[in-house]
Amino acid sequence: MTKLRIDLRSDTKTRPTPGMRAAMAEAEVGDEQADEDPSVNSLCERVAALLGKEAALFLPSGTMCNQIAILVHCRPGDEIIAAEASHILSSESAGAAALAGAQIRPLGADRGIFTAEQVASAIRSRKQNAPVSRLVHIEQTVNRGGGAVWPLATIEQVAKVARDAGLSMHMDGARLLNAVAASGTTAARFGACFDSLWLDLSKGLGCPVGAILAGDKTFIRAARSWKFRLGGAMRQAGILAAAGLYALDHHVERLSDDHDLAHHLAGRLAEIKGIRLPYPVETNLVFLDVAETGKGADALSKALAEQGIGIGVEGKTRLRAVTHLDVDRAGVDEAVDAIARWLV
Ligand SMILES: *Cc1c(COP(=O)(O)O)cnc(C)c1O
Repeated sequence: MTKLRIDLRSDTKTRPTPGMRAAMAEAEVGDEQADEDPSVNSLCERVAALLGKEAALFLPSGTMCNQIAILVHCRPGDEIIAAEASHILSSESAGAAALAGAQIRPLGADRGIFTAEQVASAIRSRKQNAPVSRLVHIEQTVNRGGGAVWPLATIEQVAKVARDAGLSMHMDGARLLNAVAASGTTAARFGACFDSLWLDLSKGLGCPVGAILAGDKTFIRAARSWKFRLGGAMRQAGILAAAGLYALDHHVERLSDDHDLAHHLAGRLAEIKGIRLPYPVETNLVFLDVAETGKGADALSKALAEQGIGIGVEGKTRLRAVTHLDVDRAGVDEAVDAIARWLV
């Protein structure tokens, strides 16, 4: 494959900046398994405070955050209520079923944002042969909902229904800070609605590795056992945590630049005949559909790749372009021009 000069496939494609690499090189480190890594400890304290939780746990990936949270909340035979579009359903190798023995009850919802009424009717009555409704899972922002932001009020309504019925609340916050930037609602206010939540360092924050899971002390103690059990405990992980601390200082404010650029990209794409944008753009994800051109997503993506431009394929005629630290306006404009040329 030609090297991609402009990579819009995902916000995971960022490389650590020189400043981040310097912070990593200079990191104070210790044995993370023994709680002796000062950089990991300070990152966890900082993220716990940011999310309004008592404690936090540094993990290798967001997927592990979701899976460990599910393992702590659920027993075999339990049911998780989640949007049909959610990452745990499509992109975690059926981990909820394979590891926790829990099944997911998918809710169809516009852009992945379901309502309190939907949750109320999905909660099962206590019959001996019924799965036990245990957990409500919310993705913020909704990746396969076009980067949609769950409004705080909707989350609060869902949380009330869940808690009244004795269910726990978990947030997949892979792009939580994008939701914060777009909505102006603080991470702690979102966090107050959840028993557990996490944020990813390796998406818009631009770190090479890592995610942080937060909750109360009892939850985090149980999560830590699963971290060991699954082989997620590390050693001098401060090298990675230093990237996270650097990102919290330097890469949070700028997330709105990614959103501005995504709006610019969407505006330009909307002007191209035959391109339809299935979702309004709220954050850094832009979905486009080329069905009306009679051409396919795969072919478009391949043609762009030959010009050094990366774009994600989401379906036969659907693609996803993501703005992030490593793409600028000139790159986005070049990508749009190449798309327009190919479609004529
Ligand atoms: C990327 C992503 C994950 C998984 O995070 P990793 O750090 O890649 O394991 C989970 N949920 C959503 C919504 C994501 O976009």
